[in-house]
Amino acid sequence: PISAIDQIKPHRICVCVRKRPLNKQEINRKEIDVVSVPGNGALLVHEPKQKVDLTKYLDNQIFHFDYSFDETTSNDLVYKYTAKPLVQSIFDGCMATCFAYGQTGSGKTHTMGGDFTGRQQNSANGIYALSAQDVFTHLNHRKYSKLDVSVYVSFFEIYNGKVYDLLNKKAKLRVLEDDRQQVQVVGLEEVYVTTPEEVIRMIQAGSACRTSGQTSANANSSRSHAVLQIVLRRNDRASTLHGKFSLVDLAGNERGTDVSSNDRSTLVETAEINRSLLALKECIRSLGKNGDHIPFRMSTLTKVLRDSFIGEKSLTCMIAMVSPGMTSCEYTMNTLRYADRVK
Ligand code: ADP
Ligand code: MG
Repeated sequence: PISAIDQIKPHRICVCVRKRPLNKQEINRKEIDVVSVPGNGALLVHEPKQKVDLTKYLDNQIFHFDYSFDETTSNDLVYKYTAKPLVQSIFDGCMATCFAYGQTGSGKTHTMGGDFTGRQQNSANGIYALSAQDVFTHLNHRKYSKLDVSVYVSFFEIYNGKVYDLLNKKAKLRVLEDDRQQVQVVGLEEVYVTTPEEVIRMIQAGSACRTSGQTSANANSSRSHAVLQIVLRRNDRASTLHGKFSLVDLAGNERGTDVSSNDRSTLVETAEINRSLLALKECIRSLGKNGDHIPFRMSTLTKVLRDSFIGEKSLTCMIAMVSPGMTSCEYTMNTLRYADRVK
C-alpha cells in the first residue's frame, strides 16, 4: 500500500503524498481515477483522454517523493512514516512540524484529526492523537527516565491572518515579535496534560469549535489553518522549552480563480491563504538550504511557527493530499507541483 525510497528515519525535510480513495458520490457519477502509485515513492497522474507522447508524459506527470501512500494506506501507517519520527525528535530537543496540505476534500482533516467516515470523527486515529499517544509512551520509557519534562498542549486556528484560541472560546489573540525576534502568541492557552485521552478530548472540543459541521463542505474550516502544538517543558523554575511539535491542518489550497462570487471578503480570504502558503513554501525551502534569511514575516502562519524554521534542530514533514478524480486533476497537479518545490 505504500511505496518508499527511504527507511523510516527523521530527515530534516520529508515530503510525502497521500491519495485518498474515490468516495461514493464520485463512484456514482463515474469519476475516473487518474492517480497511480507505482512504487519507489513515485506518483503518477495520467489523463486518460489525452493522447501524449509517453516520454513527455512521464516527465510532466510523474513525481517523486520520500513516500507516496496509495488509497489503501491507513492513518496508522501514514503516521508511522511521517509524524512518528518527529515525536521522537522533540524528546531530543528538536522543533518539529508536520503539515497536511491540499485541496479541500482531499483528506487533510481525515489524516490529522481522524477518520470521519462513520457518523462521528474518530479522533483517536488521526495523526494528532497518535502523536499524543507516542509522546506519553516516550515519556514513560526508560531511555528518557532522566529527562524531567511535562507535556502541554495548545490548539489554535489562523483565519484571515488572525489567531483564535480553539481551547479558549475562540478568543482572538495577538501575535507579538520582540526585539530579539522572538514571536509570541499573547495569552494562548497551554494546557498541562498527563494522558493521551485528555489530548483527544481537547482535539474533539477544539475541532468542534472550529467547524459547525463535520463535513468537508464546511466552508469555514477549509479557509483556516488549524495548529495543534505538543510542547515539552522542563520542570525547572522557568519551564524552559525543551521541544515542540506543531501539527498543522492547512487551509485548502484551491486558487481563487474559480471564485465566481464578487464577494470581497472571499477574495481577501483567498489572497491571505495564498500568501501564507507561499510563505510556508519559502520558509521550508530556506530551511533546506540552511539559508540565513527565512522570510517568516510574510504571513501569520509562518510568524507563529518561526522557532520551527530556525536552527539545526528544525525538522519538517509535509503530507500533500490528493483527490484521485479526473475532475480534480488541475488541483492535484497544483498540489504536486507545490510539494515538489518544497523538497
Ligand atoms: P479536507 O480536510 O482536506 O478538506 P477531509 O479530511 O474532510 O478533507 O476529507 C473529505 C472526505 O473524504 C471525508 O469524508 C473523509 O472522511 C474522506 N477521506 C479523506 N481521506 C480519506 C482516506 N484516506 N480514506 C477514506 N476516506 C477519506
Ligand atoms: Mg478539513
